[in-house]
Amino acid sequence: MNVYKDYSLKHFNTFNLDVKTKYYYEVFDENELKDIIKVIQGANNFLILGSGSNILFTKDFDGIVIKYKRNDIEILHESENDVLISADANVIWDDLVNYAVNKNYYGLENLSLIPGTVGAAPVQNIGAYGVEVSNVIEFVEGYKISSGEKKILYKEDCAFAYRDSIFKNEFKNNFIITRVTFRLSKEKKINVSYRDLQNYFKDVSINLITASDIREAVIKIRKSKLPDLALFGNAGSFFKNPEVPITTLELIRKDYTDLPFHKINDKYKIPAAWLIEKCGFKGKRIGNVGTYEKQALVIINYGNATGEEIKNFADEIKKAVYNKFNINLEYEVMII
Ligand SMILES: Cc1cc2nc3c(=O)[nH]c(=O)nc-3n(C[C@H](O)[C@H](O)[C@H](O)COP(=O)(O)OP(=O)(O)OC[C@H]3O[C@@H](n4cnc5c(N)ncnc54)[C@H](O)[C@@H]3O)c2cc1C
Repeated sequence: MNVYKDYSLKHFNTFNLDVKTKYYYEVFDENELKDIIKVIQGANNFLILGSGSNILFTKDFDGIVIKYKRNDIEILHESENDVLISADANVIWDDLVNYAVNKNYYGLENLSLIPGTVGAAPVQNIGAYGVEVSNVIEFVEGYKISSGEKKILYKEDCAFAYRDSIFKNEFKNNFIITRVTFRLSKEKKINVSYRDLQNYFKDVSINLITASDIREAVIKIRKSKLPDLALFGNAGSFFKNPEVPITTLELIRKDYTDLPFHKINDKYKIPAAWLIEKCGFKGKRIGNVGTYEKQALVIINYGNATGEEIKNFADEIKKAVYNKFNINLEYEVMII
């Protein structure tokens, strides 16, 4: 185990914020993890860190940041139709997607190029291009901090929902994910239902599309729509897309017949980007912070912004959307 004091997290958060943590623990195996669990039991100022691509630090972190460093990918079981693949928490998410696609396993390709680690993927049930990671998760392994016991949580135990799971609720600050196991298909199973993918493949027969084609398409589309992390610090979508009742939807549609929406059970999901754009925030910049010119949902650090400036800018957006549409946007990014 390596322990660092007053350690800069500048290279460990994708907003590139130069914040410090009081302690930074690099943990290399499960035995070391059990030791560190004893240290943090009963404490509330600790954070399990992946790549910091879904976190906004608004100040220095007066506690312990834990980085679990195991990086293996293993095939647990293979049958004629499918395969169980386990990956350690610190495996880079897109490396796993690339690995699966290269082997012609289906299920992860729509989630190509999402930043971050495997361990964080179940936390907010990452999703993109019509697929959520919960579709292919078989089980999640890790340690319950309060008891120190090792647990296996099957998909049904994880309370997965839109950008949500047990790890953000009942198990918040009480579970360290060490490994995630996915059930992928060896048979061709593709999902090109998302509009951008439909457009991309409009001239291609569905029978000819492979996981590798979808990965290539998703990467191209993402690169054309999202800012390059190497140039602009950001954490992807800052807000969740709100789900509203029919009454709210109809009220907005009276003034805006162009309102896009998508029915989910008895609610209607509205793109937060549309709401933000209608409030005049698309491409708007205040000092060092702004929304991306091509995607209003992404807030950018143009250089030397502080976490507090970014949070204030996000709050301005929240206020504007609430005042205009009476909708309370929720953060997708974790604010610390
Ligand atoms: C440019 C960009 C595009 C993005 N696009 C998408 C997208 O299309 N879809 C999407 O869903 N997300 C997207 N995101 C958000 C982000 O990539 C995901 O949320 C990702 O899963 C975060 O991974 P991470 O390793 O960086 O987690 P971190 O930001 O380090 O942590 C996120 C949360 O997970 C917890 N956590 C991390 N590791 C563990 C662990 N081992 N055990 C327990 N808890 C843990 C942390 O404590 C924290 O609460 C995007 C982000 C960026 C910057």
